[in-house]
Amino acid sequence: MGRSAAERREELVAVLREARGCTLCPLAAGRTQVVFGAGNADAELMFVGEAPGFHEDQQGVPFVGRAGQLLGELLTEIGMSREEVFIANVLMCRPPGNRDPEAGEIATCQPYLMAKIELIEPKVICTLGNFATKLLSGSSSGITRVHGQPQLRELGGRAVRLYPLFHPAAALRTPRVKEQLREDLARLPALLAQGAPAQPREEPAMESPEPARDPAPQHPDAEPARDQLGLFG
Ligand code: URA
Repeated sequence: MGRSAAERREELVAVLREARGCTLCPLAAGRTQVVFGAGNADAELMFVGEAPGFHEDQQGVPFVGRAGQLLGELLTEIGMSREEVFIANVLMCRPPGNRDPEAGEIATCQPYLMAKIELIEPKVICTLGNFATKLLSGSSSGITRVHGQPQLRELGGRAVRLYPLFHPAAALRTPRVKEQLREDLARLPALLAQGAPAQPREEPAMESPEPARDPAPQHPDAEPARDQLGLFG
């Protein structure tokens, strides 16, 4: 039996609490805030970017800078809003000077991203740029080759439609990339209308018990996670 949306949301809050105290990689030392992700915890559509920048690190919310503003505008053009989707990143902490994510950081943060995908159960995941695309497609093909081409992948225990897109920051730098991003996004409503892909057969519940999760470590200055619920819509 699948979990209800309320159960999945509650588990997502538990993962958020854990993430806020994460010190598993050196980026923890330089961050202002963990940028866990924001939006609708039961979204059909998820966006995965690269890593928080200056403004995201300050505010604790993904895509609030210029790239995020463009993403919001392009979503509005196709009749969608940030509030109805869930937005996350490959990394939850800002790399110094906005340098590229390193392999070790990506691997350390990956279980958090997979937990979000597993608990939100999106039908479509738009990867923004090379890092998210290569990580979630499991392929070394770059964004210039694969943008705008839906792929079927199994992620977070479910079949999902992966839809690679140019990163909005690249679109801000290059008008041609912006036009391509706009064209690719224009095909997103039709992709969402296809619904979830056929799911792999579920194992009988008793034969594959879930491994017990370690209790979430409590961050020293943890506020009640309730404060963060607004992030999930
Ligand atoms: N770029 C990203 O990849 N993610 C953000 O959250 C902001 C900018």
